[in-house]
Amino acid sequence: MRKLTVEDVEVAGKRVFVRVDFNVPMDADRNITDDRRIAAAVPTIEYLIQRGARVILASHLGRPKGKFHPGSTMDPVADRLSALLGRPVRKLPDCVGPEVEAAVAAMSPGDVVLLENVRFHKEEEANDGEFARSLALLADMFVNDAFGAAHRAHASTEGIAHYIPGVAGFLMRKEIETMGRALADPARPFVAILGGAKVSDKIGVIDNLLTRVDALLIGGGMAFTFLKAQGHEVGKSLVDEERLGYAGEAMSRAREKGVRFELPTDIVAAERFEADSPRRVVAVDAIPADWMGLDIGPDTARRFAEIVRGAGTVVWNGPMGVFEMEAFAAGTRGLAEAMASSGGVTIVGGGDSAAACEKFGLADMMTHVSTGGGASLEFLEGRILPGVAALGDKEPGVW
Ligand code: ADP
Ligand code: MG
Repeated sequence: MRKLTVEDVEVAGKRVFVRVDFNVPMDADRNITDDRRIAAAVPTIEYLIQRGARVILASHLGRPKGKFHPGSTMDPVADRLSALLGRPVRKLPDCVGPEVEAAVAAMSPGDVVLLENVRFHKEEEANDGEFARSLALLADMFVNDAFGAAHRAHASTEGIAHYIPGVAGFLMRKEIETMGRALADPARPFVAILGGAKVSDKIGVIDNLLTRVDALLIGGGMAFTFLKAQGHEVGKSLVDEERLGYAGEAMSRAREKGVRFELPTDIVAAERFEADSPRRVVAVDAIPADWMGLDIGPDTARRFAEIVRGAGTVVWNGPMGVFEMEAFAAGTRGLAEAMASSGGVTIVGGGDSAAACEKFGLADMMTHVSTGGGASLEFLEGRILPGVAALGDKEPGVW
């Protein structure tokens, strides 16, 4: 990687401000329901502790909209992190100000504190310079390990790096290296599979991947816009009428570039968008007019799985169907299983796709499941992430 990482700098005794993505889901009683994002930052935190750094962690949590909100405090996160590290993690009452500065000044090497939710201050999302400077005052150095927040130029992800030197943490490095290599120098054939609900969410990803992949497979709700653009009747399936033109144009671009472009040939159609709706498998040209397609059919799933098995690199974003309902989960599960058993490089981006892998118990069998939802999409679009761009360079270049 071209960006400096924690391994390139001296951290012993230093006060290190580590931006992490601890924006974890919680139930109504504020129990953490999925702690993967906390666990994913542990290697960087352990590394810093072992080298005698003073570790100052910062994250956002939820959407408190710039003011204190008791339902968005970092306390449950501090408790979970303590358990994962096997050592106390003190949660400070705020992320800036004299009390926080005093607490940080009293830290010993190897100590870990967690600042209060940075989004309790509206200046965070505004990337206010003064606020970024107040955060920077706490530390000698900035480590960004929050890949999931790197697509946002906020004070704790970008602004702070204008005041103290910034380097990448291990999670950030893994995300960028794995996905960066897939985009820049993939083992071939390079296959991308896109799905999910909306074409409009994925146009940037389609455009970028079309210039790089050998095959593009489209499933999920998105597929119906492409099928309709080809002239199929798709009944009440999800269609983005405004993107029919785009869909046709993307397919001709694929043809010109010699990119294999695959759409579903059979569909699990349902009468209603409901878990127990009447449903049946139909060919794409036989979707009943008042029914909707909620999953790819078994023939399509088999064909996609076969293409995945022959791939050197697979990048997947977007479920193949409404996997949240068991009746429409088979297409997504089949694809995840084919990827899990593939010998190639397998990368999953997107929040719902990652959740699907986790639900099927297959996440550990992928080369990489991105911890960044929106950030992984922007990365796959080929965009520069401001939280990464702000870090110091080892060599010139983008990543
Ligand atoms: P990701 O978060 O991985 O980028 P998206 O947010 O784009 O994925 O899409 C996920 C959503 O797409 C899921 O909630 C899923 O139910 C929905 N979806 C998939 N296929 C269909 C379909 N055929 N009709 C309606 N919704 C669908
Ligand atoms: Mg999503």
